[in-house]
Amino acid sequence: MKKITAYLSAVAAAAAMMAPVAPAQAQQKFMTIGTGGVTGVYYAAGGAICRLVNKDRSKHGYRCTVESTGGSVANINTINSGDLDFGVAQSDAQFNAAKGVKAFEGKAVGDLRAVFSLHPEPLTLVARKEANIKSLADLKGKRVAIGNPGSGTRSSVDELMAATGMKGSDFAAVSELKADEHGAALCDNKIDAFFYVVGHPSANIQDPMTTCGAQLVNVTGAAVDKLVAANAFYATASIPAKTYPSQAAQLDTYGVLATVVTSAKKSEDEVYVFTKAVFDNFEDFKKLHPAFAGLQPEKMIKAGLSAPLHPGAVKYYKEKGWMK
Ligand code: GLU
Repeated sequence: MKKITAYLSAVAAAAAMMAPVAPAQAQQKFMTIGTGGVTGVYYAAGGAICRLVNKDRSKHGYRCTVESTGGSVANINTINSGDLDFGVAQSDAQFNAAKGVKAFEGKAVGDLRAVFSLHPEPLTLVARKEANIKSLADLKGKRVAIGNPGSGTRSSVDELMAATGMKGSDFAAVSELKADEHGAALCDNKIDAFFYVVGHPSANIQDPMTTCGAQLVNVTGAAVDKLVAANAFYATASIPAKTYPSQAAQLDTYGVLATVVTSAKKSEDEVYVFTKAVFDNFEDFKKLHPAFAGLQPEKMIKAGLSAPLHPGAVKYYKEKGWMK
């Protein structure tokens, strides 16, 4: 007993001697970014951002970590409750949350703030080769995965279904599988098709295309044209032929932009550090995922952003002369 006490007080004495370095440790600050499924592009985006933030940890004291989540709507709600600092969210989800409409009807997120936008996310319909699905109309009588609750995919598909008059009861079965599960379910013949609003190339679309010959299906027609015309955050989009090795033809659809959001409650310093990490290392950032190849800072600070910009981001953009 005595021995242990003596040992402990020696440890305490040693710790006291080391006290001068302790404050730096105590200043460690954390920032967490909510993404989506681990096989999606958001998770890769979050990983890329955190890697760049953490590179300069000794200068600013923040440690950035990535969390896999249910997707856009879940990220916005979790930022609002204070359990995430940043999140990736589709531009339509950002709009709906900022204005309190659609999935956020009566629940406007007044503290939602925009940081920047990222890659385009076409609404992508993937079908089993054997299911003979060539258009939206062919989904009738099929088993269709419409996205998990909390995903941006789900809120976009809900809007698409309302616009086209498609109902869950038109399908043989409606599945709410998560993005990490839909590829395997398609190849295992548990579903005939899935929707996924995602940047390209995405690992969990590549997998079923390679493993079981899954095919991309055009999402077009008069109702889609009307939906795109009526909503500023939608735009027609295409996935060029050979984006995936087995993809013979260009795929036509429409889509949104991925964006990064935070809360008005986050400090200017935290959001500044986050923003600076991405744009000071922009060439490195773009190389971290092929979906980022076409990104341009002047577009990223405006396009797809309907919530007000966070002052920490504005500070960086002004320093760079990108904003007045
Ligand atoms: N856009 C999808 C969503 O919000 C996530 C896509 C991804 O993880 O890359 O549900």
